[in-house]
Amino acid sequence: MLQDTSSPRGDIPVNIIGAGIAGTWQALMFARAGYGVTVHERGDAAMTQATSHWAGGMLAPWCERESSEPVIARLGIRSLDLWRDRLPETPFNGSLVVAHPRDRSDFDRFAKLTTDHERLDASGIADLEPSLDGRFREALFFAGEGHVEPRTVLPKLHAKLAEAGGTIRFDSDCDPESLARDNAVVIDCRGLSARDKHPDLRGVKGEMVIVETPDVQLSRPVRLIHPRWPLYIIPRDGNRFMIGATSIEAEDTGVSVRSALELLTAAYAVHPAFAEARIIEIGAGLRPAFPDNLPRISIDKRRISVNGLYRHGFLLAPALAELTLAYVERGAIDNEVMQWS
Ligand SMILES: Cc1cc2nc3c(=O)[nH]c(=O)nc-3n(C[C@H](O)[C@H](O)[C@H](O)COP(=O)(O)OP(=O)(O)OC[C@H]3O[C@@H](n4cnc5c(N)ncnc54)[C@H](O)[C@@H]3O)c2cc1C
Repeated sequence: MLQDTSSPRGDIPVNIIGAGIAGTWQALMFARAGYGVTVHERGDAAMTQATSHWAGGMLAPWCERESSEPVIARLGIRSLDLWRDRLPETPFNGSLVVAHPRDRSDFDRFAKLTTDHERLDASGIADLEPSLDGRFREALFFAGEGHVEPRTVLPKLHAKLAEAGGTIRFDSDCDPESLARDNAVVIDCRGLSARDKHPDLRGVKGEMVIVETPDVQLSRPVRLIHPRWPLYIIPRDGNRFMIGATSIEAEDTGVSVRSALELLTAAYAVHPAFAEARIIEIGAGLRPAFPDNLPRISIDKRRISVNGLYRHGFLLAPALAELTLAYVERGAIDNEVMQWS
């Protein structure tokens, strides 16, 4: 337990490095609890160097059960409440999983490995997403899931942090050691740049495409079961759609022709009108991951690091921030994600 009961919380500085989704949620949680929070971010407010800039923003703990450990669903489900509480406008209108008949066995496997879904027939799909009328015979509907648009939600959360009395310093490149003085708590959320402290971190490349078309309307993320990698289409404002994402063990941020073809073909397979869509952007981000692909809160007295959010940063960041705060305030321990050094 780190709280100094002789001084009010405002006297305990909390310095956070990195204003990606992990650092931003840590900052918000500590600022709302009354701490004096400063976030140092080496990029500018556009946040284009953060992995968070490239994310789909799906908040999908039940779909993710297909390929992740139970701790992801446990923390993810808790995070949904925190998103609802702190950002009530977050859309929670579910996600849809579809497959073509040739991928039926993969679809059934996905249904078995996941929970909290209902099976829809073709008319159920058309009721939810009229643009998909006649396209698929069956779908899984995960009614409790949500999604955010990372490029608009980060500035919104940064504004909420300012309202809660916190400060963000952009263009501020910091080293955790230089901030660790007196009674300050330092929370290192540098993502993949924290390899000086975590040599076992690696980047897992995720490629994505953004297209624009007025001819398809979707209200929620649609996942297409695919034999090689999970692909999804997420509606964004202005008739735009993010098509993502590959998962490749590589640390360059180039997009291969193969990946672009796969992503665009998947979109076309969901709806042929995507063939006429305009390509707005193609890019890739590197997901920070530990060897077990699980998130980690590493604690060394007042120096804490939150990293390894892998493909679940938006899903897990709120719950991880709540755990960090509970540790600093009450010494509460979560054995599944905390480690001591
Ligand atoms: C294509 C793709 C799709 C994804 N889709 C989803 C999804 O649908 N749902 C989901 O939950 N997750 C998704 N993810 C995963 C998610 O994006 C990551 O888990 C998350 O962004 C990691 O956040 P972070 O804050 O740890 O790292 P980052 O977002 O990289 O933030 C780290 C920040 O630290 C800053 N920094 C680094 N070093 C310093 C320094 N010395 N001083 C100051 N600042 C520093 C960097 O500039 C950066 O802004 C996706 C990822 C990709 C690539």
